[in-house]
Amino acid sequence: MKCEIIAIGSELLTPYRQDTNSLYLTERLNELGVSVAFKTIVGDRRKDLTNAICSALGRADIIITMGGLGPTEDDLTREAWADALGIALKRDGDIVGQLYARAAARRWQLTENNLKQADKLAGAEVLDNPRGTAPGQWLDTVFATHRKLGILLPGPPNEIKPMFDEQCVPRLREILPPKFIATRTLKAAMIGESHADARIAPIYTRFTDVETTILAHLGDIQLTLISSKPTMEEAEARVNELASLIEEELEDHVYSSSTRAESLEQIVLYYLGMRGATLSVAESCTGGLLSERLTSISGSSRSFVGGAIVYSNELKTEFAGVPEELIDEKGAVSREVAAALAEGIRRRCRSTYGVGVTGIAGPGGGTEEKPVGLVYIAISDGVQTEVVEKNFAGDRERIRFYASQQALDMVRRKLM
Ligand code: ATP
Ligand code: MG
Repeated sequence: MKCEIIAIGSELLTPYRQDTNSLYLTERLNELGVSVAFKTIVGDRRKDLTNAICSALGRADIIITMGGLGPTEDDLTREAWADALGIALKRDGDIVGQLYARAAARRWQLTENNLKQADKLAGAEVLDNPRGTAPGQWLDTVFATHRKLGILLPGPPNEIKPMFDEQCVPRLREILPPKFIATRTLKAAMIGESHADARIAPIYTRFTDVETTILAHLGDIQLTLISSKPTMEEAEARVNELASLIEEELEDHVYSSSTRAESLEQIVLYYLGMRGATLSVAESCTGGLLSERLTSISGSSRSFVGGAIVYSNELKTEFAGVPEELIDEKGAVSREVAAALAEGIRRRCRSTYGVGVTGIAGPGGGTEEKPVGLVYIAISDGVQTEVVEKNFAGDRERIRFYASQQALDMVRRKLM
């Protein structure tokens, strides 16, 4: 069953208001095994609304409109539905009674335009709205020989949510075949989206019954696998099967494959805790970003001891023991200084592992030999020091984030 959600309201087409209702409904619908195929946002013009509903009738089975059920001139949703379906709107005596009762209880004067909230589409059921005045409508009908469900819901978030949960979800459950939904989230670090996709697309495209979505953000990829089946066992078996194949393909890039979708910093701290190991960092170009990411996780003090922001050469020497001559000879942004930072901070902080980061975040400060984006990241365990050279693309913010991501990933790999 295909579903289309139509958000109605000219304010939703301005930069100041966003359609958030559809996110809520989508989550509920997905739980019922219904995926949303289209979302439309349309202003308060009758013709445009009618057009939007007509298009939806042509391509979806469940059509949900949100908003435009109030008493004002620009509330035209009922009229547009009637136009689109070519059916009548009739004033409903019961709703009129309720509107009068509600107004009387609040000592409001009911005006003529208020009564249009009682206009009901022929054949529709009323969805009560105890939190507002405009009732919703549920229309189970046939359009061009196809069964269509039309659901008219109010716009205010505090009205639409309970109305949908209490009155629409039970009705949908009765209509829809029982479905169980299994989800798995895989997360991978420091692998490009297109590169990852090129490797795994041949795998997930074979699983036509599993919905796979990829979200990529700065050295981090999140793959969500969703399967809905008549039983939970079948649904889980499918996502697990696909997850294993993807994990095999992406190998050690995958850092999380549980249902919890942990962040890279959470995983790093988890591994450190498991090994009873500690970590310290000497950060130059990341200016504390790495420490900030680690300490944003509650409980990080068990494994992250701290470190230093060693922005100036003097502090690289003073706090992390990097020999002055080394900086003079190789430059502050160099493989050797990164290694010395990692070793030095590890010794100074008496931690199991030390990390050093030094690079050129830009936009100024780059040279031909050492361009903007050049970053050295080192990790030392006291016996071995490993240094990685990276040329990150992007602006200052991206380069700094990538550097912190690479550092976290190196710690993770060291612990794996
Ligand atoms: P009312 O009886 O209040 O007029 P209505 O059904 O006519 O209800 P609208 O007038 O369209 O609803 O919207 C009422 C309020 O709800 C507005 O302030 C609007 O910003 C908010 N709203 C409407 N649609 C959405 C949406 N899709 N997501 C979030 N907020 C919304
Ligand atoms: Mg309104």
